Amino acid sequence: MSTIIIVGGGIGGLSTAIAMRQQGCEVSVFEQTSELREIGAGLSVWPNATRVLSQFGLLPEVLNRSEVIERLQLRTWKGELLSDIKTVADFETPSVCIHRSDLLSILAEQIPQRCINLGERLESFTESDGVVVASFSSGRKVEGQALIGADGLNSTVRAHILGPSKPIYRGYWACRGIADFTLEKQEAHTATETWGSGQRFGLEPMGRGRVFWYATANAPEGQLGDQLGWKDELREKFKHWHKPIPEVIEATERDAILKHDILDRQPVRCWGKGRVTLLGDAAHPTTPNLGQGACMAIEDALVLSQCLMQKGEIPSRLRKYESLRFKRTGYITRESRRAGRIGQMENALAVTLRSLWLKTLPSFLVDKIHRSYYAFEV
Ligand SMILES: Cc1cc2nc3c(=O)[nH]c(=O)nc-3n(C[C@H](O)[C@H](O)[C@H](O)COP(=O)(O)OP(=O)(O)OC[C@H]3O[C@@H](n4cnc5c(N)ncnc54)[C@H](O)[C@@H]3O)c2cc1C
Repeated sequence: MSTIIIVGGGIGGLSTAIAMRQQGCEVSVFEQTSELREIGAGLSVWPNATRVLSQFGLLPEVLNRSEVIERLQLRTWKGELLSDIKTVADFETPSVCIHRSDLLSILAEQIPQRCINLGERLESFTESDGVVVASFSSGRKVEGQALIGADGLNSTVRAHILGPSKPIYRGYWACRGIADFTLEKQEAHTATETWGSGQRFGLEPMGRGRVFWYATANAPEGQLGDQLGWKDELREKFKHWHKPIPEVIEATERDAILKHDILDRQPVRCWGKGRVTLLGDAAHPTTPNLGQGACMAIEDALVLSQCLMQKGEIPSRLRKYESLRFKRTGYITRESRRAGRIGQMENALAVTLRSLWLKTLPSFLVDKIHRSYYAFEV
């Protein structure tokens, strides 16, 4: 049986390679960069995805290199508690905050080197007589029984299937960073998100004396400014916010700060054609408000591998995977966008009402919403 071609060596592509190999499939991953790498930021991995990582046999190593998150607190910029949710209740596997590179290495360690082809940028593909032929910018041509586009937000595979289109800007940017910083004892195992007017700040302990943080602010698209000025901008925007936000910004190296516009796409039903399909951000990029983008890619990987093991022609197995994933990923994309709209409210009255609403929201309702994100069984 010829190989399954996976385009993209990010969290989605590598999770897919692991899931397929565990089902006995031959896979080849093609990554455009010359080494497997992730950006210098933390990643929240929620119970829905740690359950899949546990099925891959990787949970002990993930726990070794991360911090378990037991609570999720929402606060006002003055520090007043708005809500306090237990993220461990009733879930088989925990939520964790892990360095992105650590997760990528854990995944990569499971895949033999011969299956990973670096410096190979997919340019196009054709399908005929039951095979897909992928063409790379190096001139290489590879034949496979299926092709999985796990090539991220600006996916080449997606553009070939659906035509070129731009992701949608959602009205705010996000900065991220990691600081060597020890949180107070009561903040251990706790992720905090603090809401102001058109701005938010998140803090998550990442283990080994490190804190992962993120900040958002409403702004016109594409106005990220110069990296040298980002720390000063954050200092200014968050100088009056509760402890330890200003201290964490101060403890972050200037060049360790990342800044991106926040984008997603409208959910679409069609992710594939013939022997080709999409996975992860290539299929359903989502805003980061629920911290679920990579988690969705990990869920996709398991479902896709299970569908490919079913009987029938490969195209119908791929369409089955797409139909199984459309509802779930569309729900998360829409919920995440909604959470962003609420979190980024700017009007003073709306912000006051939002705080009142959060403080009076019955806990069973909050619990129900969170279960719909985390209790999903692949
Ligand atoms: C600010 C922010 C915070 C986030 N926080 C979280 C979080 O806490 N938890 C969470 O679950 N998610 C989070 N996400 C979302 C998460 O980062 C993504 O959903 C996830 O990384 C998608 O993985 P992927 O493998 O689908 O795509 P990518 O990570 O984009 O990987 C795609 C890979 O394909 C390669 N590639 C691209 N084109 C080609 C080509 N033509 N040929 C070969 N290779 C190619 C790229 O080089 C890349 O390595 C966040 C996102 C943002 C923006």
